[in-house]
Amino acid sequence: MNNKEIYVTRPFLPPLDEFNEYLKEIWNNGILTNNGPLHQRLEQELADYLGVKHISLFSNGTLALLTALQTLRITGEVITTPYSFVATTHALWWNNIKPVFVDIEPETCNLNPQKIEAAITPKTTAILPVHVYGYPCNVKEIQKIADSFGLRVIYDAAHAFGVKLNEKNIVEFGDLSVLSFHATKVFNTFEGGAIICHDEATKKRIDHLKNFGFENEITVVSPGINAKMNEVQAAMGLLQLKYIEDIIEKRKILSNLYKKYLKNISGIRFLEDLKGVKHNYSYFPIFVNEKQYGISRNELFEKLKKEKIFARRYFYPLISQFPIYRNFDSAEQGTLEVAEKITDQVICLPIYPDLEPYIVEKICNIIKINSKS
Ligand SMILES: *Cc1c(COP(=O)(O)O)cnc(C)c1O
Repeated sequence: MNNKEIYVTRPFLPPLDEFNEYLKEIWNNGILTNNGPLHQRLEQELADYLGVKHISLFSNGTLALLTALQTLRITGEVITTPYSFVATTHALWWNNIKPVFVDIEPETCNLNPQKIEAAITPKTTAILPVHVYGYPCNVKEIQKIADSFGLRVIYDAAHAFGVKLNEKNIVEFGDLSVLSFHATKVFNTFEGGAIICHDEATKKRIDHLKNFGFENEITVVSPGINAKMNEVQAAMGLLQLKYIEDIIEKRKILSNLYKKYLKNISGIRFLEDLKGVKHNYSYFPIFVNEKQYGISRNELFEKLKKEKIFARRYFYPLISQFPIYRNFDSAEQGTLEVAEKITDQVICLPIYPDLEPYIVEKICNIIKINSKS
């Protein structure tokens, strides 16, 4: 029986030979960064894969988020979700913007559009929702609210690479979408990220902002930052793209396996596939209802750890529960009640392309033997 440590994720690594070929190309070119040939090729290939016209690559997703907010000159207050990775809110903080947390929906764990309006003030300029676990937000309702109140929408699509909603890639929605290509994500470039926008002028502005604001050799048009993707990252991206459909298919098989084994355990809930959505199976969250299941989320988490299964509690605590953001908590009491409940129930189980099916079975057996049913 297996006795090695199993982590929540493992990056997909393409064959080393193929990566070496790209390294040779980089050495031959003598170009390491600054919109090099591989960078240009990856932008083109990603645009084709995602079915979008304009994409700008970044050294990581957090800098892409910071730059997205700068691109649209977002200020004042921004409505966002407390149920995400901290980088979502940090990006607001670094732009001197006040985050206003709004509750989520239990079915998708995403921002609840019905609760947005009550959080809008004269200072609100944008909505920053997250497609958590790659599950699409209610993009239609969110856009409707944004349109009636004159707000911009920037999606944190860090989890949602390759996800489609009714045949449209999820990054087509909103004013801007931001991807992360961090090692732990479905598609990785070691570290990396991107902004997707919808017109040439915005693409230009983003490209200036990520390169110190340079328009040309002697003209600086904005107080830009250095957030450029380098050629080694781009090489990794080109190889990931070659294998991406296989990566997602393998994740789907494992996700279905989890569902098969877990479906009859009382007190264990998981997310179902949504109609009209092509999922990427980036995470496999389960939600432990302590009363029905018998033991708490934290107890199950520890039991798994004892068996060397290192699951993760994404997302616990809520961003709004971190001391640095507590003062920004919504003024109305109890408005984050769904998020507060889910953050205490969630465990993300290991899922990655070369996770062996018998490990999934083993994990589900541990979950089963600890249930009271
Ligand atoms: C990973 C992640 C980010 C940050 O991306 P990096 O590439 O790691 O900087 C932002 N938001 C969410 C929701 C993430 O999961």
